[in-house]
Amino acid sequence: MERTYIMLKPDAIKRGLMGEVISRIERKGYRIVDCKMMHLDEAILREHYAHIADKPFFPEIVEYMTSGPVLGMIVEGENAVQGMRIIMGATKFEEAAAGTIRGDYAFCTGQNIIHGSDSIENAEIEIKRFFG
Ligand code: UDP
Ligand code: MG
Repeated sequence: MERTYIMLKPDAIKRGLMGEVISRIERKGYRIVDCKMMHLDEAILREHYAHIADKPFFPEIVEYMTSGPVLGMIVEGENAVQGMRIIMGATKFEEAAAGTIRGDYAFCTGQNIIHGSDSIENAEIEIKRFFG
């Protein structure tokens, strides 16, 4: 069994899409083993998004990701890291296929509904970061 870190971003919560996204995760057969709502600050975002911290759009990401609560989740299942990336869809909203979470709900890349770890190694780091 593999574990991945999933986070519903502020727009998912503001738009009332939590239930919809959680349903998709559960219908796929993954199990949510822990979850919590959190308010993130810039320090944790600089850590979590270290790979984009020097991009020109990073200040906007910080503003957005601190604009409201997020829902952090530990999701478990066979091949959960890669499997969740598939049901999430591509990062860029215009490239996310219909039928994926981002493809169906995101209308801008900065506010693309959901985060999911991109490797088993990062999943472990992110689960530690947000769940201790
Ligand atoms: N992002 C953006 N513009 C870009 C690339 C990324 O706004 O050109 C944002 C987007 O919200 C993305 C987040 O930065 O989800 C983290 O980027 P990453 O490359 O890790 O994409 P992800 O793993 O979320 O698909
Ligand atoms: Mg990423």
